[in-house]
Amino acid sequence: MDNSVVTTKRVGDILHVTISNPPVNATSQAVRAGLMDAVARSGNARLVLLSCAGPTFIAGGDMSEFDRPPEAPDLPDVVAAIEHSPAPWVALLHGTVLGGGLEIALGCSHRIAVPGTRFGLPEVNVGLIPGAGGSQRLPRLVGFEMAAEMATTGKMTSASAMLDAGGIDEIAEDLEAAALAITSPRPAPVSALAQPVASAKAIDHIRAALAHSAKGAKAPFHNLEALLWACETDFPEGQRRERNLHLALRQSAESRALRHAFFAERAAARPAVLTGVSPKEIGSIIVVGGGLMGAGIAASCLLAGYKIHLLETTAEAVEAGLSRINALLDSSQKRGKISVAQRASLRLTGSTDYADSAQADIAIEAVFEDISVKQQVFQNLSRHMAPEALLATNTSYLDPNAIFAGIQNPNRCLGLHFFSPAHIMKLVEIIALEDTSHETLASGFAITKRLGKSPVLAGVCDGFIGNRMLAAYRRAADYLLADGAQPAQIDSAMRGFGMPMGPFELQDLTGLQIAYANRRRQDTTRPPTERYVSIADQLVERGRTGQRTGKGWYRYEESRKPIVDDEVTALVRKAAERQLTFSAQDIVERLMAALINEGQRILEEGIAATAGDIDVVKLLGYGFPRWRGGPMHYGDTLNNLRDMVVALAAQSPGSWVLADRFKK
Ligand code: NAD
Repeated sequence: MDNSVVTTKRVGDILHVTISNPPVNATSQAVRAGLMDAVARSGNARLVLLSCAGPTFIAGGDMSEFDRPPEAPDLPDVVAAIEHSPAPWVALLHGTVLGGGLEIALGCSHRIAVPGTRFGLPEVNVGLIPGAGGSQRLPRLVGFEMAAEMATTGKMTSASAMLDAGGIDEIAEDLEAAALAITSPRPAPVSALAQPVASAKAIDHIRAALAHSAKGAKAPFHNLEALLWACETDFPEGQRRERNLHLALRQSAESRALRHAFFAERAAARPAVLTGVSPKEIGSIIVVGGGLMGAGIAASCLLAGYKIHLLETTAEAVEAGLSRINALLDSSQKRGKISVAQRASLRLTGSTDYADSAQADIAIEAVFEDISVKQQVFQNLSRHMAPEALLATNTSYLDPNAIFAGIQNPNRCLGLHFFSPAHIMKLVEIIALEDTSHETLASGFAITKRLGKSPVLAGVCDGFIGNRMLAAYRRAADYLLADGAQPAQIDSAMRGFGMPMGPFELQDLTGLQIAYANRRRQDTTRPPTERYVSIADQLVERGRTGQRTGKGWYRYEESRKPIVDDEVTALVRKAAERQLTFSAQDIVERLMAALINEGQRILEEGIAATAGDIDVVKLLGYGFPRWRGGPMHYGDTLNNLRDMVVALAAQSPGSWVLADRFKK
């Protein structure tokens, strides 16, 4: 009897088993049960051909099941049943063969893949190890080092690399014909192959790489440990340990945080307010301004197949902008992201003439951060473009409602806030203005997704979600200086928490001038009761604007490594209002409390629709450690959050406006 997701068909002495569980044929309970039934029916077949309908073979487990106790049949039992089935199973592979999908393929006697198929054990990305023998079978088949690379990084590997390593038997265009041509005797099950060997050198090398890349996450190390069991114990014992650790890790804070990040990212890309709203058709895009951001945006759009026209101020600026864009495309080609033929097909032009914008469906503006320049650009565009053509600004800090003041049909105006470097960074804040229509927002989401980026909806406030959170975090770091901490101490504590960089190193990298200009802009509106620390201002006024000038919060020599500078140490000490002592934990608590409080205010003001959206912004735009789930998720894991926020705010009067949630 077939169930709805696994069907079997007998043709002569061949049993065809097909999984159809859209979108990615995940190994849900119904799939597992269906495969068990198929094994029961495979008795006298010569071969069992296992394939999946749709764009991919099984690409993982059903993560919604991970919060519940496992439901029978368990995947390890399904894989064992396939492996010991009376008839040999052949896995016919296409798309991405991931996690449970690869584990099932490893239970089969033969594996054949179409060209371009990719393979991976991505469990580490959600804080887990494989749970159905993947960490024990894969190293037996392809060797310890390749299996360790796949399981500890979660990165996918190509069909040709798998073929070279013996992970698959063949690459073929016609999978079924290749399977029917199998005449070789049934090979030994993968679980019965000899134990893999791990050299001490390879283990040391992997441990060192993980110490650098994991940034506090534990799952990469658990994966390494599980692979070492394959080298040290027999298969049943290795599998028993793997399953136990897999089930235990499902309950871990790290796995919950990573699963939250996964689901939050997915939810952010489909905001509730846009359910059922269709985007406009977009084919051609005007990018205004071919500087750092404009060039990155244009390159992303070109690579996604859009036709791009660049508008600049002078012929020289057009040339400079086009060559910036072409340099980015060259590098994409060099890295194999696009072929020579694809490169030749990209449609890029440029001019200084706004009349060239007449046919475009949307304009994305990335000119100087100056309100009158931006207003003029949109006046010019609206004179030439169709009255319903979309108009988007990439401003970071200006009020987009003011940028578009007086534009006809303001429902077509929005903010598309890309992050730098725009051709690489995945995050785009989609800014809803007072009059932006749902159709315009949906179009912003559609474009962003076509660029392969992750959109998050945000309302208008100073800095939107991301830069407003960043400003709160930096202010809290400045208060720590004023209370007696030193920059290197704060940076080290935040790196220890899992941030790629501390707040002061990061300012040196990006430059201190933009934040300085923002503070000057805010001078007139800053409440007089707000605590203000002027150390960063003093640095800028002394020409210490960051790494580019060789000095900022630190001093830089050839290596670009930050070096503590006595001048800054003395300046901080002199400016400090008190000399308290802080542990790394105190520092983390202060900065996280400020960040979470600001996030909560952003939610209460409706600037972000969900706490998950704020987490996505911090994870994708600011390097917040993914294994901590984002600041809001992290806050939810602290059982004394409210008391902590209130107490820390009280220690530093005038430092924050408490969110309503934290008020007594
Ligand atoms: P940039 O100085 O590198 O580039 C600006 C470009 O705009 C220059 O090439 C200039 O010639 C051109 N330009 C100026 N006036 C113009 C006009 N009237 N018509 C056409 N072109 C004109 O600046 P950038 O860093 O690319 O920033 C551009 C925008 O993106 C700003 O609003 C900025 O706030 C925003 N932004 C910047 C970053 C970042 O990290 N740099 C991140 C997000 C958003």
